[in-house]
Amino acid sequence: MKFIILGCGSSMGVPRPDGFFGNCDPKNKKNYRTRCSALIKTSDENILIDTSPDLRQQLLRHKIKKINKVLFSHMHGDQTHGINDLRSFYINDKNQINVYADKFTSKYLKHSFSYIFKSFSKEYPAILKLNKLTKNIFINNNKKKIKIKSIEVEHGKVKSNCFIIDQKLAYISDVNKIYNKDYKYFKNLRYLIIDCLWYNVHPSHFNLDNCLSIIKKFKPKKAILTNLSPVLDYKILKKLLPKNVIPAHDGLTIKL
Ligand SMILES: [Zn+2]
Repeated sequence: MKFIILGCGSSMGVPRPDGFFGNCDPKNKKNYRTRCSALIKTSDENILIDTSPDLRQQLLRHKIKKINKVLFSHMHGDQTHGINDLRSFYINDKNQINVYADKFTSKYLKHSFSYIFKSFSKEYPAILKLNKLTKNIFINNNKKKIKIKSIEVEHGKVKSNCFIIDQKLAYISDVNKIYNKDYKYFKNLRYLIIDCLWYNVHPSHFNLDNCLSIIKKFKPKKAILTNLSPVLDYKILKKLLPKNVIPAHDGLTIKL
């Protein structure tokens, strides 16, 4: 089983559409960041986490031919606006793809992309089936069931969901607060992939200091910082980090 970070950039990507590169060195390929999405690739299934506006480019890069399930973390545009790119996967086998979202995200998706969930004509049928994001979702790997646990966290004015895969890897792309009652789920994992927007305080994201203190608390074997803004140059950031912490880059793949 593999976990692929398809994109690790903040909401406007790096560089931003206007070319703004911030502190990032354009000569370093690891500073080119598409918006946050991830893929769990088992021997039987491809499970996508979020549909970033860069989804098409991300799936092409990794030669992904099938999507079996989609989990949405929250309703922000940088996690949802690539949803239309799922159409090509429906065309291939004519089965609606199961997507899983919480109440607010479902409402937003149905309102903003009604044509995707409702058949308007024979030529344009509904391509996705919306399901409730439950606390535990099971996926298949080599005829074994693997658990993905979703945990609600605070992300500014909205709630976001993070995902713990097989009690080994936590993916938390957008967060400014994890509730104390949930700490027990995050302790001593193999991998913690966590939102680190920049150095300064932000009302809806962790910054570098927040990340380093949460990493100390949770003690993962390895931590990977994601949702990185143009403020954070890969090489400069890496030098500031303890040995078991690295910045993400697009395409970073973890074997589980
Ligand atoms: Zn967000």
